Amino acid sequence: MWRTVRLQIAKAAVRSTNWISLRTGRGSGTVIGGMVGLTIAPGLLEALAANRRIIVVSGTNGKTTTTALAVAGWGDDVASNDTGANMPAGLTAALVRNRSPRAVLESDEAWLGANVEATHPAVIVILNLSRDQLDRASEVRQIADRWRAVFATAQSRGAVIVANAMDPLVVYAAFEAGNVRWCAPPTSWTADTMSCPRCTAPLHRSDERWWCSCGLVQPSASSYLDGTAAVVGDERFEIPVTLPGSFNQGNALMALTALVEVGVDVRRAALRMAAVDEVAGRYGVRRIGGQVVRLLLAKNPAGFAAMLEDVGGEGDLWVSINARVADGHDPSWLYDVPFEVLRGRRVRCLGDRRLDLATRLWYAGVDAYVDEGPPVIEDRVIDVLANYTAFSDLLRDSQPC
Ligand SMILES: [Zn+2]
Repeated sequence: MWRTVRLQIAKAAVRSTNWISLRTGRGSGTVIGGMVGLTIAPGLLEALAANRRIIVVSGTNGKTTTTALAVAGWGDDVASNDTGANMPAGLTAALVRNRSPRAVLESDEAWLGANVEATHPAVIVILNLSRDQLDRASEVRQIADRWRAVFATAQSRGAVIVANAMDPLVVYAAFEAGNVRWCAPPTSWTADTMSCPRCTAPLHRSDERWWCSCGLVQPSASSYLDGTAAVVGDERFEIPVTLPGSFNQGNALMALTALVEVGVDVRRAALRMAAVDEVAGRYGVRRIGGQVVRLLLAKNPAGFAAMLEDVGGEGDLWVSINARVADGHDPSWLYDVPFEVLRGRRVRCLGDRRLDLATRLWYAGVDAYVDEGPPVIEDRVIDVLANYTAFSDLLRDSQPC
């Protein structure tokens, strides 16, 4: 009885705190509302998650996009923490806001254990694992070790794990969990897994596979891309993803694999996903000071590498880099980004750390410039790559076209 009353009070507190936060212009309020609710009733997230079918999505890159694709693919009325607040408070606020029996929840990598423990998901999607925010995040192998324990517990409760077979750190974490659906999304980043996550010997790689002499090997995948077709289990169909980049096809592949596990028709889900052309401002075409731009987010070397592979090949590009708390204060990761692929193009350096960026680009042999004045307006869409807070600044300072 007292527990029920306490949960009701906590839910009301989440709603009212969020309302006040929104009305007073202090942000979306999702985090502060959830924190207040969890302080009043620490079991609130678990109570809110009970009797729902939940997919949890985690990994270093692509969480928000994959979550959005899974929500779209599942159909109408799916609860989700679409503001990107991916720790327990954010998940709590999302589930208070929407009582749908279906939810797709993005989880911070480091908080996966707590989020899974509280929400008892039917499916856990693990996209990838690479270095991120050098001064804030744990070393990748520490996270992989924590994930192993999470998967072992979740699997004992019947959860299915949808995991990236191309990423040795993800495989190391999920290798011994029983209920795994292995996927093979396009994965080009290998710099965080030169050595085996299990025994530290150098990993062997061919064009198609990776393996270690200790027995940790790339599992064969039941979901993969074959040209423009996607294969998910026994189904083969054209993958109609509107978002640019092969990495987004991979995100869609993993979202579709997860949806099959909760009983969704995969072909219908793929058609619904095609309607997604923008995710939280990402990939959106907007106007900054008269220039039409397409905003792209990349936060770390792996994210930049994936984005640079797919950002069209000619003309000027803008790149904006900050190093605030949410970005990580240490921008030395810029030296791990393969900016050399931009040789022959001109890059306008923006953001708080534009000089660090210009220096890095100079070493890469890229024609870079720091221009404090208004841009020369070009009669075409310019791609703008930005890291986390730089992206938020650009989104705030731009207008829809
Ligand atoms: Zn090994």
